[in-house]
Amino acid sequence: MTQKIQILPEKLCNQIAAGEVIERPASVIKELVENSLDAGATTIRIEVEKGGKRLIRVTDNGSGMSRDDAFLCLERHATSKLRSENDLSCLRTLGFRGEALPSIAAISRMLLRTRQQEALEGCEIYLEGGTVRRAEAAGTPVGTTIEVRNLFYNTPARRKFLRRDETELGHIADTVTKLALARPEIQFQLAHDGRLLIDVNRHRTLPERVAQLLGPAFLKEMVPVDSAADGRRLHGLISRPETSRSTAGSMFTFINGRYIRDRVVHHALREGYRNLIMKGRHPVVVLFLEMEPEQVDVNVHPTKHEVRFREQAAVHDFIACAIRDTLRPSSWVRGGPSLPGPASVAPEGERAESRRSASSAPSASREPGFEPVAGVQEELTGYRPAESRPGSAMHPPRRPEQEEQAGFFGGTTIIGQYRDSYIICQGGDDLLLIDQHAAHERIVFEKLRTQYRASGVERQMLMFPLVLEFDFREGAVVAEHLELLERLGFEIEPFGGNTFAVKAVPHLFTEGETERLIRDVVGELATIGKTSQVEQALNRLLMLMACHRVVRANQVLSLAEIRALLAELDEVPFNAQCPHGRPVMQRLTLADVERMFKRT
Ligand code: ADP
Ligand code: MG
Repeated sequence: MTQKIQILPEKLCNQIAAGEVIERPASVIKELVENSLDAGATTIRIEVEKGGKRLIRVTDNGSGMSRDDAFLCLERHATSKLRSENDLSCLRTLGFRGEALPSIAAISRMLLRTRQQEALEGCEIYLEGGTVRRAEAAGTPVGTTIEVRNLFYNTPARRKFLRRDETELGHIADTVTKLALARPEIQFQLAHDGRLLIDVNRHRTLPERVAQLLGPAFLKEMVPVDSAADGRRLHGLISRPETSRSTAGSMFTFINGRYIRDRVVHHALREGYRNLIMKGRHPVVVLFLEMEPEQVDVNVHPTKHEVRFREQAAVHDFIACAIRDTLRPSSWVRGGPSLPGPASVAPEGERAESRRSASSAPSASREPGFEPVAGVQEELTGYRPAESRPGSAMHPPRRPEQEEQAGFFGGTTIIGQYRDSYIICQGGDDLLLIDQHAAHERIVFEKLRTQYRASGVERQMLMFPLVLEFDFREGAVVAEHLELLERLGFEIEPFGGNTFAVKAVPHLFTEGETERLIRDVVGELATIGKTSQVEQALNRLLMLMACHRVVRANQVLSLAEIRALLAELDEVPFNAQCPHGRPVMQRLTLADVERMFKRT
């Protein structure tokens, strides 16, 4: 019998490990700089040539290594940061796997030069493809310099995946930016082909670093966050609601000093900004989450870009609450800049406030300080856990006047429809512009929410059960959330494996649209994960459902339909804002109109 299985040679192991950790020049820089940080460096200089393909050189003034250690660090699984299994659960260093240096060495020509404080001389080791070619004593300052030349020179298949120099440089600058944001007290320099791209001194505070690294304009949009509870702390800077981006690229989140893009954290941030910025838009944040190392497992992914929290739901709620507390209008709205725009909830409110006339405007009775995000205030009360902080006194109770406003929309005079998308009417002396899409979304959302809170969303039986197959993950989500789905109006029965039979759907929906609706809801549930978080995400689920069932823009409405829509608007607790954070209504008072025509 012949033996087919073999243990791979060390060199090949390193190449394979490099495949996981080193994707491109930027990954090399991340690993080298993290090592410098772990070595206590206060100055780190990064030089690259040709997008890092020709050369990457990282120089630090950290502890340096002894001659023996300099050889050892090139071995696989050689690390000074981990001694025993126990250490794995309480890591305080960025590295611990002992893989980076041998991996990088295996796929490049590497020069390591290092000296410790007490050593009379340093040492220099040169390797090619992981094999030591030369080692000698060298005069060198305290600290470590590592040069990586011709990355992937011996793995042409990997080299092919490298992009243009500018693209690789973009990734490098991005990586250095994240590392520099994480450690304001450390000086960073990044030079490309001799030109200095990033040059930040040691800073005392995060705002100073943000201003220098991302620009003062960036900083102006931000407000500070600092919140601590149950051994967790969240601090940093977050954008005001009126500032948002179309991509998540300006969301810098760090967990215990490590840049991480985490699903739970991002979900919690969205939750914190819910109803404040439009769906599909993203806030700008530089946020640091700190907690006991044993509370978070960073050994989930070779590049450590992902983590697993021990108490995922608690972390989620902590972040969402901290963001909401910070964005509470009283903390900044009054003095804040006013940049009116469709996505800007707060300024919209401020404008409404400044325009307030003595007429029967629905917002006229609101407390000025809370007006800008009144809707959010209302939801906060429901959101906050029972053991909430004293701050909950900040939420004004729903006022009786709001009930008296019932009939306001029904009582307006309809003037017409503009571009088949906006309803124009007169309420008292005010000219009202209503976004029909946003208004209807709000109506359906409120209906669903009221029904859900009562005894569950009203259902209608399907004539024939709809048999749906899901993938593994979604199948598990459906099985786990059958009860919740029932409360949302879906009667679903397991049908073997990942197949389920849908017997009833929410009453508000017609049969034709149910499959997409269910798949969307399940998809949303899958991103939430834990059952304990579902309650918080409920509004998002209901919103998603509402979206499926609304009057779109560009839809001609008959007078009767407009009337019906307005009458329905009176039924919902009006808060001038669709669930996506877009305003439902804009108002021009008589004074506004007169001013426009210079009649005052
Ligand atoms: P890890 O960081 O996971 O320990 P690495 O392969 O990145 O693994 O590094 C191996 C070891 O080499 C580190 O544990 C550290 O002791 C040493 N080392 C690497 N880079 C430096 C540096 N810039 N200064 C001092 N020591 C370093
Ligand atoms: Mg390392």
